[in-house]
Amino acid sequence: MKLGTDQLTVQYSGAVRPALHGVTLSIPAGGLTAVLGPNGSGKSTLLRALLGVIAPSAGTATVEERNVRAWDRRELARMVGVVPQSETIAFPITVREMVAMGRFPHLGPLRAEVGRDREAVDKALERCHIGDLRNRQMTTLSGGELQRVRIARALAQEPRALALDEPTASLDLRHEMSIMRLLRGWTDGGITVLLITHQLNLAARFADRIILLDRGRVATEGTPSEVFRREVMEHVYGWPVHVGQDPVTGSLRVVPLG
Ligand code: ADP
Ligand code: MG
Repeated sequence: MKLGTDQLTVQYSGAVRPALHGVTLSIPAGGLTAVLGPNGSGKSTLLRALLGVIAPSAGTATVEERNVRAWDRRELARMVGVVPQSETIAFPITVREMVAMGRFPHLGPLRAEVGRDREAVDKALERCHIGDLRNRQMTTLSGGELQRVRIARALAQEPRALALDEPTASLDLRHEMSIMRLLRGWTDGGITVLLITHQLNLAARFADRIILLDRGRVATEGTPSEVFRREVMEHVYGWPVHVGQDPVTGSLRVVPLG
């Protein structure tokens, strides 16, 4: 499903400058689009605006060419899954219960799970390698386990688009790679994935398109080879870098100098 913005400006109350400033973007259906940019460049704000949870000060965010603020929230929740940057687990629930929350927008009037819901939950647990943790309390999980549960919850939703805000931030190499491959697999299955990450080199390797944000504006967007140019990266990140081809993967990579 197609996501986009048109001259999107978001100004938080009390902030000196807008978090996003006249951003116009088109995120094509079915691919993996990575959103990169330094801390505070507006990545999470872009995601919140695309999900319709914050109101723009000007411009629009669209889902399937329609203003996201005009969508029925429940209808949107059936189609777009979200893994936010952080959340507090405030009450005692098990891993399975947490993942089953992803089914909520699909449940019928009695709010009871049916076979199809149970299957989706089981599949999500298995695909995120957390089947063994299903009866564990959420509060007892490690950071990496918690992330995988949160991703499984979004997967159980069987969404057409999935937005993830730094989902691999606390994961070790193996779990990070398995998540990246999972995301890639979903896009091959037709799901639109929007991934916010600080992992430049994984983005260059796995993403179809990259959006590079800089202080609330789009510095550049395009394929990894269009975005990964030395002058652009040095300007946006404010640090000298070398951009070259990784001899093993063949993807572009950014190496910070100094
Ligand atoms: P990123 O995710 O790229 O680190 P954010 O979108 O979280 O950036 O933030 C962009 C800018 O907006 C930052 O300057 C941040 O301090 C500010 N900001 C984010 N959330 C809020 C908020 N709720 N209220 C005020 N300012 C905010
Ligand atoms: Mg953020």
